[in-house]
Amino acid sequence: MSAWFVRSLDHGDTHLGDPEDSAVVRPAPAVAPRCAPDAPFHPMNRRPMDFCFFEWQMCRDCLAVVGRPRDLRPLLAVAG
Ligand SMILES: [Zn+2]
Repeated sequence: MSAWFVRSLDHGDTHLGDPEDSAVVRPAPAVAPRCAPDAPFHPMNRRPMDFCFFEWQMCRDCLAVVGRPRDLRPLLAVAG
């Protein structure tokens, strides 16, 4: 089970980490994100989040790693 950790307040900078990972304890001192396991960071949130509050927080690469791509629909321009 993965949980979300906030690296910064920028768009897409909330990443999935593994709470079972020994590097992730509460409070989490460092998180190895699923999208870049060799680049751990110190999360802003002290507790793992089961879900993001805002869609724009989620990292697209982390979503792809766990096989849950965002449900994005292309914008359609309709000529009237
Ligand atoms: Zn990520």
